[in-house]
Amino acid sequence: MRLSQGFIPTIKETPNEAQIASHRLMLRAGMIRQSSAGIYCWLPLGLRVLKKIEAIVREEQDRAGAQEILMPTIQPAELWRESGRYEDYGKEMLRIRDRHDREMLYGPTNEEQVTEIVRASIKSYRDLPKLLYHIQWKFRDEVRPRFGVMRGREFLMKDAYSFDLDFAGARHSYNKMFVAYLRTFARMGLKAIPMRADTGPIGGDLSHEFIVLADTGESAVFCHKGLVDKDILARKIDYDANLQSIVNEWTSLYAATDEMHDKAAFEKIPEGERLAARGIEVGHIFYFGTKYSEPMKAVVAGPGGEQITVEMGSYGIGVSRLVGGIIEASHDEAGIVWPESVAPFKVAIVNLKPDDGAVSGTCQKLYDALAAKGIEALHDDRDLRPGAKFADMDLIGTPWQVKVWQALLAIPQGKVSTYRAIAGRVGNDNASRAVGTAVGRNPISWLIPCHRVLGSDGSLHGYHWGLERKRAMLAVEAARQSERPRTSAMA
Ligand code: ATP
Ligand code: MG
Repeated sequence: MRLSQGFIPTIKETPNEAQIASHRLMLRAGMIRQSSAGIYCWLPLGLRVLKKIEAIVREEQDRAGAQEILMPTIQPAELWRESGRYEDYGKEMLRIRDRHDREMLYGPTNEEQVTEIVRASIKSYRDLPKLLYHIQWKFRDEVRPRFGVMRGREFLMKDAYSFDLDFAGARHSYNKMFVAYLRTFARMGLKAIPMRADTGPIGGDLSHEFIVLADTGESAVFCHKGLVDKDILARKIDYDANLQSIVNEWTSLYAATDEMHDKAAFEKIPEGERLAARGIEVGHIFYFGTKYSEPMKAVVAGPGGEQITVEMGSYGIGVSRLVGGIIEASHDEAGIVWPESVAPFKVAIVNLKPDDGAVSGTCQKLYDALAAKGIEALHDDRDLRPGAKFADMDLIGTPWQVKVWQALLAIPQGKVSTYRAIAGRVGNDNASRAVGTAVGRNPISWLIPCHRVLGSDGSLHGYHWGLERKRAMLAVEAARQSERPRTSAMA
């Protein structure tokens, strides 16, 4: 996208209504605009991120064997009367009357609706298990909407529901979602730790909240440090196999939110391995047995014709909350630092001389080459001072930045010594060399080798022309995780 033609209304001033970094940065980067308290419009940049997060959530739900449906936002009150929740839910529920004076509501969650669907179409034990999910807007009239999209009134949630014949089946469905959640958050570059959560009258241990550690989190959390370093993406997962050992591995170390905290158990952990922090709840999985299926009569015929009330669980992910959560976990003073997997654009091409035909031509070539490879780029061709562009690009936080100016075009191809000479001037050999190599050659082969912009001691130097420091830090992380060649362009 060419920024001069796009719509990314960034702002310099810090909005005073925003108390936490993610809210400030989302407003400043032009990602969202408040409509009313806790209700937001999603502008192009914000929407791109929201869609990326949604796509990862969807892929991982599908991978785990869940099937996507789409239930309405508006539900009839009768369904909620059947479960008894219409009265219980209180003021958080937005109640509406239609023109025929029928009671309706804007769904805060969908247990009743999905139970109705299943009871209408599933009659035999042979049709179970089933795992259904949707990604839909919810409305909860929160007492205190705050922190931007983190605690909104209207928010996007992925909610899945499992239907099983017995407890063993329900536990397997629970485990599938448990593992799918670990993968989902890890793919977004987050360290989300499953923590024991309250099971209420259901009892047992099948309720976990997935918590991202962040100073601005609403809950105090306590866990074993070992949980932070565990890596699910390194495992091969077979969702049809028994997943209990993986779940055990993640649940055997202590982890609990404030509500469930057991001080004595926590203090048994050696002091150096204890972690007391704050966290953001990004997901919640919950087994609740026949809480809805019983009053709503979701029953199937068993092998002997007997009636079996189905066992259920529900599994939520705060899709829109994640946008804020990821920013809380990954930003610096200058702006957002997007993990590659959810970045609105992978690369920003910063055109430092938009009125110079050669410079603009190079930017366009680079843009086209990236597009041909399916890499989304943002071409900042606005007629602005370089400083203003740098500030905006830092704020928007694409993982990679390429700055193009006249001097860069003067570097002859393949002349490493020339790059070194320039590198000497700018004080960072690696960074300049990487940029120089890109010119006129295949920019893609440059982008990959650019993963390291390091000094000889492994520390990061300041950059001048190439990648900047914080992007390079992410790059180092990415390089560690990937097998990608780092120096092919120089070869
Ligand atoms: P919380 O304790 O934060 O109020 P909850 O327990 O009410 O959340 P669930 O009903 O478990 O939330 O909803 C599933 C997920 O939806 C939560 O884990 C959270 O990520 C997200 N979520 C819940 N309420 C909100 C909200 N007001 N704004 C944004 N996301 C929310
Ligand atoms: Mg919860």
